[in-house]
Amino acid sequence: QTIGQLFDAACQQYASQEALVVRHQGIRWSYAELRQQVDSLACSLIRLGLAPGDRIGIWSQNNAEWVLTQFATAKAGLVLVNINPAYRRSELEYALNKVGCRAVIASPSFKSSNYIEILQDLLPELAVCQPGQLKAARMPPLEWVIRMGQQATPGMLGFADLLAAPTPQELAALQQLGQTLQFDDAINIQFTSGTTGSPKGATLSHHNILNNAYFTGEAMRFGANDRLCIPVPLYHCFGMVLGTLTCLTHGACMVFPAESFDVLSVLHTVQEERCTALHGVPTMFISLLDHPQFAEFDLSSLRTGVMAGSPCPIEVMKRVTTLMHMEQVTIGYGMTETSPLSFQSRADTPLDKRVSTVGLVHPHVEVKIVDNDGRIVAHGETGELLTRGYSVMLGYWDDPARTADSIDKSGWMHSGDLAVMDGQGYVNIVGRVKDMVIRGGENIYPREVEEFFYRHPKIQEVQVIGVPDDRFGEELCAWIKLRDGETASVDDMRAFCQGQIAHYKIPRYIEFVDSFPMTITGKIQKFVMRQQMKEKLG
Ligand code: ATP
Ligand code: MG
Repeated sequence: QTIGQLFDAACQQYASQEALVVRHQGIRWSYAELRQQVDSLACSLIRLGLAPGDRIGIWSQNNAEWVLTQFATAKAGLVLVNINPAYRRSELEYALNKVGCRAVIASPSFKSSNYIEILQDLLPELAVCQPGQLKAARMPPLEWVIRMGQQATPGMLGFADLLAAPTPQELAALQQLGQTLQFDDAINIQFTSGTTGSPKGATLSHHNILNNAYFTGEAMRFGANDRLCIPVPLYHCFGMVLGTLTCLTHGACMVFPAESFDVLSVLHTVQEERCTALHGVPTMFISLLDHPQFAEFDLSSLRTGVMAGSPCPIEVMKRVTTLMHMEQVTIGYGMTETSPLSFQSRADTPLDKRVSTVGLVHPHVEVKIVDNDGRIVAHGETGELLTRGYSVMLGYWDDPARTADSIDKSGWMHSGDLAVMDGQGYVNIVGRVKDMVIRGGENIYPREVEEFFYRHPKIQEVQVIGVPDDRFGEELCAWIKLRDGETASVDDMRAFCQGQIAHYKIPRYIEFVDSFPMTITGKIQKFVMRQQMKEKLG
């Protein structure tokens, strides 16, 4: 099926059930109401002259407009381009040009930046051809800028105006158009998190993301009574595939607590909306658990969710399953390029496996773990994880060289992640190939050292990297964030390690920090930490 076909079927089947709650906008829509708005928007986009295969960008925080755009573009066969909310002028111009967007939908503001101002600034050469339609010398394909909120402004269309009711003829044409779309058409360009460098644009089909969303829901035993709290960004696959699409495939309700992650809004939302599921990266769960008011909230409605994106410290996982009542939380492993999940624990995965592995391979996905020569390693040995199957992206948009570097001739997607599989098929992600530290010929996996530090009661968060060293090639460096109000010295930390871990795994450099460089998806950017340490150490 295409996303549009599944959308229509779900809206019919679950018509009167709640589909979307957006707390910060005061919105509550049933599936029938959602469909009405989506169809109106889809017809308006077609009326602008946008046709299947055209790219349309969205540059916004989480909100109802985002969800409408996701489903309306899918129904109209447009390729939705998720633009990173952290982008500024030059990155935005690059991205819009790179994928040749004919239209862009932008929210007026997000945190400290005014997106509309940035766009206006970027488009001084714009001439208005007819009301709302533009021609920009520096961005030749761009014709339409759609502003979220109420009003159109000179040169821009207002999003609210695009929700006007379509004519019966337009609705019929939309349904007809839906019949012509194919499930393996490109429907979405998603950017990777930018954890290891600049984000890459993965082109994905209906087939890619719809199936992955479905199987993710199956692993969580999702159903029409579930209510999923989505604090992860919609611009990323975590929000728009494992969040909104998984709800659609199972008739569940999507609940957005705020425009971006905010601890108290999440706690209030779970309690007041009686959410049964919650998604997040480990750092989000850590900040929920460590909030001084955490214990005041009733989170007993929670059952499951997906925790993914980066390794979860075992201690955190244990607190999530007990203090947050998420006995059936599933750990997911994946990457944007594989739609995203390749591994996930199941709702009934035994706790010891759930806390120590990323679960089992997803249905209909092939994986293998190989050494540097491409040979499959034995169970228990570390190698690079490769994925093949329906979930592998169509490619990086307009970048055949980078695509060929990542997907080999036999269709295997190279993850750049190091993994170990046990005899039962459970996989442990050891770290990124790029993050592995080689000190004096010894391979050190930073994750192992991080897990050790997490046993220290004063440590809230720790990240370990390698820094260049003349003698050993690389030396270990730990950045430690202590819990609020705690103090400790470098010597205390060294003493904690002495005799407990091998001498070469004790970090030579230990820094106390208040925060870590992070992507908008909440992942720690170790490459930025390495740059900063290099500058500091000269
Ligand atoms: P970029 O490719 O731009 O550097 P990124 O790889 O972080 O950024 P994503 O596609 O969002 O971008 O994330 C995929 C990566 O996240 C995986 O390759 C893996 O390194 C990491 N990851 C995802 N889930 C897990 C997990 N459960 N445990 C450990 N690592 C994970
Ligand atoms: Mg990546």
